[in-house]
Amino acid sequence: MESIENISERAHALLAKFYGYRSFRPGQLKAIEAICEGRDVVVVMPTGGGKSICYQLPALLADTGVAIVVSPLIALMQDQTQALVANGIPAAAIHSNQSEAENAEIMRAASAGRIKLLYVSPERLMTLLDSWSNARISLVAIDEAHCISQWGHDFRPDYTALGKIRQICPDVPIMALTATADEHTRADIISQLGLSDPWCWLGSFDRPNISLSVIPNPGIDSRVRTIISLVRKYPQDSGISYCLSRAGAEKMHAHLTAKGIRSVCYHAGMTPEARTRSLQAFLKGSASVCCATVAFGMGIDKSNIRWVVHNNMPANIESYYQEIGRAGRDGMPAEAILFFSLADMITLRKFADESGRVAVNNEKLERMLEYAQARLCRRRILLSYFGEERSHDCGNCDVCRRPPERFDGTVVAQKAMSALLRAPGSAIGAGTLSAILRGIRRSDIVREGLHNIKTFGAGADIDATHWASYITQMVQLGVLSIDYTQGNRLMPTVFGRRVLAGEKLILARYQPPEAPAKRKRGKAEPTPTLNPVEQLFEQLKTVRTDVARTENLPPYIIFSDATLMDMATKRPTTIDEFMQVNGVGEKKAVRYGKRFIAAVRKFEGLATGSAAGTSLKETLILFNAGVPLGEIASIKNIKLSTVYSHIAALIDNDMITTYGTFLSRKQYETIKAAFASNPETAYSILADEGFDDGLIAVAKAVERAAARRNNTQ
Ligand code: ADP
Ligand code: ZN
Repeated sequence: MESIENISERAHALLAKFYGYRSFRPGQLKAIEAICEGRDVVVVMPTGGGKSICYQLPALLADTGVAIVVSPLIALMQDQTQALVANGIPAAAIHSNQSEAENAEIMRAASAGRIKLLYVSPERLMTLLDSWSNARISLVAIDEAHCISQWGHDFRPDYTALGKIRQICPDVPIMALTATADEHTRADIISQLGLSDPWCWLGSFDRPNISLSVIPNPGIDSRVRTIISLVRKYPQDSGISYCLSRAGAEKMHAHLTAKGIRSVCYHAGMTPEARTRSLQAFLKGSASVCCATVAFGMGIDKSNIRWVVHNNMPANIESYYQEIGRAGRDGMPAEAILFFSLADMITLRKFADESGRVAVNNEKLERMLEYAQARLCRRRILLSYFGEERSHDCGNCDVCRRPPERFDGTVVAQKAMSALLRAPGSAIGAGTLSAILRGIRRSDIVREGLHNIKTFGAGADIDATHWASYITQMVQLGVLSIDYTQGNRLMPTVFGRRVLAGEKLILARYQPPEAPAKRKRGKAEPTPTLNPVEQLFEQLKTVRTDVARTENLPPYIIFSDATLMDMATKRPTTIDEFMQVNGVGEKKAVRYGKRFIAAVRKFEGLATGSAAGTSLKETLILFNAGVPLGEIASIKNIKLSTVYSHIAALIDNDMITTYGTFLSRKQYETIKAAFASNPETAYSILADEGFDDGLIAVAKAVERAAARRNNTQ
């Protein structure tokens, strides 16, 4: 067995080579070491925490065998394999969107050891393990492992079959990974998978780069305005607008489209083709907003999602946290905004009551409401839900930025309650109550004679938005209750009657939403207000968009925003400097380096032609990375003969001193002998024997190198 030091050293080398990262995040290396020692591992990290590397690196560290990764969604598998292949790691997925012939080909490649990571769905895994007993499996990773637990919020029956893995291959270590698991769920994952004394990592759930805010009771105009201001603020990036219903998603999509925003829709009511089209447009960056139901997003590893807006409140904090976690996966600033309304609260309460797990779901809803109505730092509320207590406010939520002002709301509450009590015969909901208080002569109000009650118009000094906010607070504080069985009628509670009798009630003053700070005017054109780093960052994004288009890959697979930001800061003008950028591994350096370096050079006012020697240097990097010459040619999109000429030049400069991988001793001797016996005819004789001109040039360079060494001895 390998020593830990050795694993750590090799793991760091592979991390730099394939991913271009210099260091591991908390928990990653320990998880890698544990699984390499043959232990089972459980990794709980928030979305964006860096779970993938925990199983991908052990797959690379294993000299033989394939790592199997179980994943619940095809989109997720495709995304991951695309990202791996872009980094030069052989990975593939087996799923029903591919022909069985393709799947069979991938299986053959995997059992022949040509694939390091193989993604499969749970049900395919079982048939695969049965038919595959003698192929070497380095590890089994189970992504979204909470799906195995009935305790979790996303139970999937097909995950239960995974309990058999341990029996089928008892010697293969298992790694379970999830972003959401309370203690119950964690214990359940361990017992259902039959993990033995697993090494567990419970990462911090904090995502400090995501700013949190809640906008209470916004009307549709205000919602659309908020989303449009986010689109303007992040013109090159994208965001998700979540709705509870398909109709809601369609409606928002229509509103945004009418305002000229590039938006797509995504929900389960669309045809699979239409959904794929939406997803592709969103991933490739041609749409800046996806109006979706929560069916969208699981496993969307798009790192430049800058904002997530919830048009409806989710039923629990786990879901909310997972959904907003799709923003800012690259660690750069991102925003999560929740639109909160009484109507949602009513709907969710009804769902919870009808769910069959009334107590649990109501409790979860209660905690979500606590977040939405928070008077204290929202991040502290979120984190305490996941068992992380903080002693400091975060400074990056709306409550921290603008603490709500409280006021004596006794009179406000009394007006509301007396209106209700004066019309005992009518079922008055929140909207109607607000209209009565503001003195609106709506036809239904007049029909029921509600315009005659004494408090009609008693709250005309407060507008509809404010009333909506105060009524919501009164429900939250238990002054009013909602009777769901009678058309959501509002009723004063016992506590409410005490307030009516004079007991003091403190309410939070309604605060209009913060005007989103304008980051930039106009479109992609950098304005003088941007500092140089930001200007270059914007230009590099444009290069990324172009490269993504020619490569037919989503921009975030090319480079993440965090990588572009590091690039804009370091400003590499040579391939060596380019490789120092965080997130630039060998393959991407060579494949994309030239275009980005040219952009930096242009920005710096330097000549943009590729710096002398860049191409040679790239060939050397790839050669040292063990890439065969034919593959170097295809990665760099140059002729094999050019690669040979590079190799010859590198040998002449003593930068390559081992030749075994491209020139056998026998080939060398044959070429040497041909020239020794007749230099005039050597080329044609060798050509007849199938020798490439390039290889001949290389052999001659080797001969020169040997002569140099003999001379110096
Ligand atoms: P998760 O699966 O936990 O949601 P990912 O594995 O997709 O998260 O990682 C999120 C982002 O963080 C990715 O862009 C990934 O490349 C990046 N990342 C992961 N580990 C590191 C690291 N050690 N250094 C820098 N970036 C990292
Ligand atoms: Zn805060």
